[in-house]
Amino acid sequence: MTLPDRLLMGPGPSNPYPEVTAAFAQPLLGHLDPEFLRILDETCDRLRTVFQTTNALTLPISGTGSAGMEACFVNLVEPDDVVVIGVNGVFGERMCEVARRAGATVVRVDAEWGQPIDPQRLLDAQAANPQARLVAVVHAETSTGVENDIAPLAALRNTDSLLLVDAVTSLAGIPLEVDGWNIDACYSGTQKCLGVPPGLSPVTFSARAVDRIGSRTTPVQSWYLDLGLIGDYVGTARKYHHTAPTGMIVALHAGLGAVLDEGLDAVWARHHDVGRMLQSALVTRGFDLIAPERSRLPQLTSVRLPAGLDELALRRRLLAEFDIEVGGGLGAFAGIAWRVGLMGHTARRRSVSTLLGALDTML
Ligand code: PLP
Repeated sequence: MTLPDRLLMGPGPSNPYPEVTAAFAQPLLGHLDPEFLRILDETCDRLRTVFQTTNALTLPISGTGSAGMEACFVNLVEPDDVVVIGVNGVFGERMCEVARRAGATVVRVDAEWGQPIDPQRLLDAQAANPQARLVAVVHAETSTGVENDIAPLAALRNTDSLLLVDAVTSLAGIPLEVDGWNIDACYSGTQKCLGVPPGLSPVTFSARAVDRIGSRTTPVQSWYLDLGLIGDYVGTARKYHHTAPTGMIVALHAGLGAVLDEGLDAVWARHHDVGRMLQSALVTRGFDLIAPERSRLPQLTSVRLPAGLDELALRRRLLAEFDIEVGGGLGAFAGIAWRVGLMGHTARRRSVSTLLGALDTML
């Protein structure tokens, strides 16, 4: 069976780096094979470099980005804890739901979809709820193409509230400094700017977060996502917890290698340059960019289509006639907007020119 060869320009997954595709062609290793364990350790080291952290507890969770989100909440929150969550899109909403199911009382800080959350409002909400265990926010809102400013939240260091950041779409796409911004817990996904297929969620936890987990008075509700147990497998104890998805970890190792060989600065610059190239080209064709310029992500562009165009029909034609996938709008933007991804290996000038050529042919 041969699947179609698509240019993946949706909100994710992106096309894998060639190094990743080559890694998948390797023979499979067992999950306790010394060679696999060496690759696992190196993968965790590479994740530390990409997250810009020295956190000991840094590892890929077996599951997609949502598993990383869930792992953060269930390990850091106990029933009846208060958590402050910024919401300006689908993934902030999802955080609220996951926190609520973990037994937390959620204090929401809402901003309009398509606009960033003012970090001062999150700090004010924490000051009004100093008992809050967590302040959580999405760095790159994939549903709207908006970047939320994280750096000012480093001030939470002086409070009892931990800072939790969703970096699913930001890691290896735009600058993210886990240690520099005093982030206590951060999760990502493999399928976006890391250029690896979906299936793993890199996570990292500060010493403060590890202490918090250690001082829990109730067990973590999820056995599978209990970091105490997972840490015994990934750490030196090597105690069996679950059968690690070895093929995916070898692929992540290769994707991280590609990112680090290119260099983080160069990777961020590439995403920035192609994102801006696409955005200005779409504006000249009558598209309307949703996110304000200072908060506009380069790796995920949300645009309203020019009046009179049928967004679904055009997307279907892009896929059927040109093998290009772009994403539709979500929530308030459903039916009127597109989300165009330029992430990881897809973040190339040739992706932009291929999409523009197809659009120009169709319009
Ligand atoms: N957070 C953000 C910002 C996302 O974009 C996504 C997925 O698109 C998720 C969380 C959930 O990740 P996954 O779909 O890999 O479970």
